[in-house]
Amino acid sequence: MTNLGQPRQSGHHIRGSASAPVEGRLFERRSPVSGAVVARYADGTAEDVDRAAQAARAAFDTGPWPRMSGAQRAKILLRWARLIGDNAEELARLEVEEVGKTVRFARGDAAGMADLTEYAATLAYEVHGDAYTNLGERHSAVVHREPMGVVGLIVPWNFPGLIYCQKVPFALAAGNSVVVKPSEFTSATALKLTQLAEEAGVPAGVINVVTGTGPVVGQSLVAHPQVDMISFTGSTAVGRKVLEAAAAGPKRAHVELGSKAANIVFADADLEDALDGTLFGIFFNQGECCVSGARLLVQESIADSFVERLVARTRALRVGDPLDERTDVGALIHGDHLASVVRHVARGQEEGARLLTGGARQDVAGLPEGCFMQLTILDQVSERMAVFQQEIFGPVLVVTRFKDEDEAVALANASSYGLANAVWTRSLDTSIRMARRLRSGTVYVNTQIDGAVQLPFGGCKGSGFGREMGRAGLEEFTQTKSVMVHIGKRVPFFGAKGE
Ligand code: NAD
Repeated sequence: MTNLGQPRQSGHHIRGSASAPVEGRLFERRSPVSGAVVARYADGTAEDVDRAAQAARAAFDTGPWPRMSGAQRAKILLRWARLIGDNAEELARLEVEEVGKTVRFARGDAAGMADLTEYAATLAYEVHGDAYTNLGERHSAVVHREPMGVVGLIVPWNFPGLIYCQKVPFALAAGNSVVVKPSEFTSATALKLTQLAEEAGVPAGVINVVTGTGPVVGQSLVAHPQVDMISFTGSTAVGRKVLEAAAAGPKRAHVELGSKAANIVFADADLEDALDGTLFGIFFNQGECCVSGARLLVQESIADSFVERLVARTRALRVGDPLDERTDVGALIHGDHLASVVRHVARGQEEGARLLTGGARQDVAGLPEGCFMQLTILDQVSERMAVFQQEIFGPVLVVTRFKDEDEAVALANASSYGLANAVWTRSLDTSIRMARRLRSGTVYVNTQIDGAVQLPFGGCKGSGFGREMGRAGLEEFTQTKSVMVHIGKRVPFFGAKGE
């Protein structure tokens, strides 16, 4: 069972210590696996956000963090990465408990948190500007690369620790201070990671965490005048609200939003690998993954046999208790989300899609309150159907057949989203052409949901803009300042006096 013991109780983390919420109200997080209360968190208010923003402002304006050398910041961030590694099992188990993801994959997330932090530490050495020495004898200029100041970071529930680490260590490496708002469903890892950061030597006030709801804490954070920039990851619908509120500032907002990635299988692919990748692409993390390969586009000549094997392999996967090491797919985040996934499937069938397997809530022995969903495949799906266009964010794969490369490209790009797509082929030419023609921030070739900390990650179209990870992921949290210097005695701007 996924309860680690007594429910945790936490206040916000402001100016280096867990602080009681102003109004003292708490909200509960129930395990999506057992239904038991696993944690109680401070239900943040606009006043809490104000205290956190003031703490981050003071840390930035007068504290040591932005004044340290890159090397000093790097050393502290490296210590933080090591502490994350030392605490990986606890971080993984907190994520299992609140997200419902399997412990096997949660361990991978925890390792990723340490890797991201370590990589961001190395970037701290390399945050620098540029010099222009080609401006003639009388001028010289330098371009500073400076931190943005106070950054508000809003995180979703599907990869709470990983997405925190795609943002916070990078913002810190550049010298910013931050206020983090975790999802109300998954606050544990943000609080734990912040405590580890301070243990590693990040000064108090540089990272502040305010727990609570989006409409109160999230909205107050975006609107707060002391917050210079917002970095948001979440749904496209909420992303639009965040952009509108940021525009009123105006302040910079970087948004990583929803997706409906295509997983394109050509007849010449290694079909065993493609099968394995297709299963992982849709069922990893219960299908609650922004880059899930949720639309299978399969070439007509192999489609029937490929889909038949896919259904058989899907039925062999284990859905159940995420703490059981043999489990492949855990629980969805909460009951309302499970109901919405089931509704999407029903709508698909009404629109003419054919249900090949799954389609309903799954009973798991001993866990009557668990939010489990049957692994689902819908065939005969066309471009005009809602299940083709809308992000379901659950273990539901929709299947569409294509004749040739042009049709595959047209179908893949017939989406309002553009975060990631995958291509399976043995042809080098096809893979290169497809990588060029697909409109998304990432293209996987003969792999799925893969990557490296050095690779920039982000979307286009309705999946948002801006990049995380890689050098670009640090530069998002910086701005340039041009300093123009005149050398020697000036020739007067308005001519010599008395002329
Ligand atoms: P969500 O948009 O409901 O919530 C995201 C965060 O925004 C939460 O912390 C929430 O409390 C907060 N929020 C809600 N209303 C707000 C408001 N009015 N102002 C400010 N903040 C507000 O998303 P979710 O359900 O937590 O996560 C799932 C979504 O996230 C999916 O659409 C998924 O594709 C997307 N996602 C995208 C990426 C990416 O990198 N592009 C990564 C992970 C998840």
